[in-house]
Amino acid sequence: MKYKLIKICKCGNRDEIRFTKREAAFDLYDTKEVWDSKCSKCGEKKWLSSQVTKPEFDKELMLEWGNNIDLFFEEQDEELMLAEEKNIDLILDIIDNHKILDHKRIILVEVLCVLIYDNSGELIDKEIKLKEVENRSKMAARVANELKSRKKLVLLAESWIMDYIKERAFPKIGLKYSETNNGKSSFWSKLKYYFQ
Ligand SMILES: [Zn+2]
Repeated sequence: MKYKLIKICKCGNRDEIRFTKREAAFDLYDTKEVWDSKCSKCGEKKWLSSQVTKPEFDKELMLEWGNNIDLFFEEQDEELMLAEEKNIDLILDIIDNHKILDHKRIILVEVLCVLIYDNSGELIDKEIKLKEVENRSKMAARVANELKSRKKLVLLAESWIMDYIKERAFPKIGLKYSETNNGKSSFWSKLKYYFQ
C-alpha cells in the first residue's frame, strides 16, 4: 500500500499508518484512533507534524464518489481540490459517459467553472510569468469551449454555482450571467477565503 499517514514525534521517530487507496481517497480511517495512538518509540501522545499521501483522482475513485452521496474526497473545499488541470479530461469523461448522481455531476460542472474562474481574469497576473499566464489562459479557454458544447448541463448546475464565479465564467461559455444572489452559501465563503 502506497498510501499512508506519517506522524512525526518530537523524539524524531516517524510512525507510519498505512491505508488502502479508498481509505486514503475518502478519509475513511478512524481519525480518533489515528490521532490518539502513541509514538511507538517514546510513548508521547502529542505529534509534531504529519504528512498524508493521497491517491490521484482516477476513474475508479470518481465513479465510486459519483454514485455515493456519503463519500467525500474532502469534507471541505472538495471543489477546489478537484479544480486542477490534470483532472479536466477525467471530469469530462465522467460527466459525458458515466452514470453518476445529479448532485455529483453538478459539483463536477462547478469544478470546471472554478477552473475557468481561477485561470482567467485579474487573478493570473500576480507574480506569474508571461508564459504561465498564456498557458493558464489557454486552459481556461479550453474548459470554456468544452462547456460551450455542454450548456444544458451548465444550466442545470446554474443555481449551485456562486455568482462571482458565474460572472467571470459564464460569458466565456457563451451564457448570459444575471445576478441571482446565489452567493451566500458556505461554498462562497470558503472560496472567498481561499482567494484572498
Ligand atoms: Zn517519540
